[in-house]
Amino acid sequence: MYQDYTHEPFTDFTVEKNREEFQLALKLVESELGKEYPLIIGGERITTEAKIISENPSNKEQIVGAVSKANQHLAEQAMQVADKTFNTWKKWRPEVRADILFRAAAIVRRRKHEFSAYLVYEAGKPWKEADADTAEAIDFLEYYGRQMLGLKKGFPVKSRKIEKNKLAYIPLGVGVVISPWNFAFAIMAGMTSAALVAGNTVLLKPASTTPVVAYKFIEVLEEAGLPDGVVNYIPGSGAEVGDYLVDHPRTRFISFTGSREVGIRIYERAAKVHPGQIWLKRVVAEMGGKDTIVVDHTADLDLAAQSIVQSAFGFSGQKCSACSRAVIHEDVYDEVLEKSIALTKELTVGNPVDDTNMGPVNDQGAFDKVMSYIAIGKEEGRLVTGGEGDLTNGYFIQPTIFADVDENARLMKEEIFGPVVAFCKVKDFDHALEVANNTEYGLTGAVISNKREHIEKAREEFHVGNLYFNRGCTGAIVGYHPFGGFNMSGTDSKAGGPDYLLHFTQGKLTTEQL
Ligand code: NAD
Repeated sequence: MYQDYTHEPFTDFTVEKNREEFQLALKLVESELGKEYPLIIGGERITTEAKIISENPSNKEQIVGAVSKANQHLAEQAMQVADKTFNTWKKWRPEVRADILFRAAAIVRRRKHEFSAYLVYEAGKPWKEADADTAEAIDFLEYYGRQMLGLKKGFPVKSRKIEKNKLAYIPLGVGVVISPWNFAFAIMAGMTSAALVAGNTVLLKPASTTPVVAYKFIEVLEEAGLPDGVVNYIPGSGAEVGDYLVDHPRTRFISFTGSREVGIRIYERAAKVHPGQIWLKRVVAEMGGKDTIVVDHTADLDLAAQSIVQSAFGFSGQKCSACSRAVIHEDVYDEVLEKSIALTKELTVGNPVDDTNMGPVNDQGAFDKVMSYIAIGKEEGRLVTGGEGDLTNGYFIQPTIFADVDENARLMKEEIFGPVVAFCKVKDFDHALEVANNTEYGLTGAVISNKREHIEKAREEFHVGNLYFNRGCTGAIVGYHPFGGFNMSGTDSKAGGPDYLLHFTQGKLTTEQL
């Protein structure tokens, strides 16, 4: 019997012992920086001349790892291995596949701070954010393992007296898993483990700025007993390796999390049927967001400001769920803005190794993009705090608030993916919901209100995949808050939810005449 699923607790860093242990893990990882990492195809380590250099975004001089880089030839080799391995892996009993996930979760749990420390160095995550990322990775392993134990029973269907009917869910084939850098461990591990526990084989192309933590995860899967060839580790250029595998006639499904732009490209390309292809590819694409916190005039204003600041600036706003728009009733607008500015000014920005509140943004590209939106913000709104970037050591940007932004401004519509939030004044609650729904995204949102009528109206009309009341709009927990968005935020596949594994299976009905 397995214990009921409960989510992995977060580390309390106010406890001195926990701080000391985390510091030891940071030291350990620091001593491992700069190593080389090969590709893994069919269990074989392959070193290439071309390398992806993973740098520390807090300290550009520091190399986290030099990772071999797949090209189309190696991607093809990996595809052939995954295709062949599928024929055996799909026959492994679901409970044994699930046991591999449970063992992997136990291994990660024992080395929890070490994984989080990698995220501090490779993704620039503050301690708390890194700890939450690792906890979420453990949760995905524990949760999808248990989901598979349920799914193996299939779903009940009726049988007439003359027959016996059975509906089973069987694996699809080779899946290409393309993961983002912002939850470099959790989302990568979640997408990979869901696909494999359902009986598929995987070609894993992690994001190019965070390939080392993905390598460490493959080592864990191997230690947990995953056979060679089930997950193949092939970091590489999205344009070269990504397009090649998305187009490949033997690719059965693509599980993607990333930007709207790349998601659309994959969706379109995957729709084309290539010579030799005998199926329609399935695409699970989870994409960007433009997430809103609505504050009505009955709200607890301290809670409103805390929710906005925490959701906007946690991990420097680099979450698909981050609050990038605060839409506030005119009666309380000035007060919420003032309180939010005060809280924002308390945040420390710097190298997260030193336990700062905010670290850097991801890389030069992210820095340039966010700074360009800050320039746009200066035209479109009133800069009330932040606005500065600092490239001396890493890619640091101050938490930034723009006030009095028009509801149709670019700052209110486009995903910035950095520590920038726009404040917009509205005349009443209906107007607030209108603004909340005025983008092409639909990922998360929150309403801070003490009026039941407004909460219920928002429940009906605020069109997002994850809607929260009287709290911030980030921090979904596996198994508790299944996560995925509407419209251009993706296919609403609800990661960490009870129906997620179905995306990686196909239903097979058998009927036996008695
Ligand atoms: P990205 O789209 O730039 O990259 C995601 C992955 O796609 C990377 O591994 C990248 O190498 C790969 N890629 C790039 N071009 C490709 C191509 N032509 N073919 C195949 N793969 C290709 O996104 P990112 O910058 O890593 O992540 C940030 C984005 O992800 C934001 O938009 C954020 O909102 C979104 N995101 C969404 C969710 C969600 O659950 N909806 C979760 C996390 C992040």
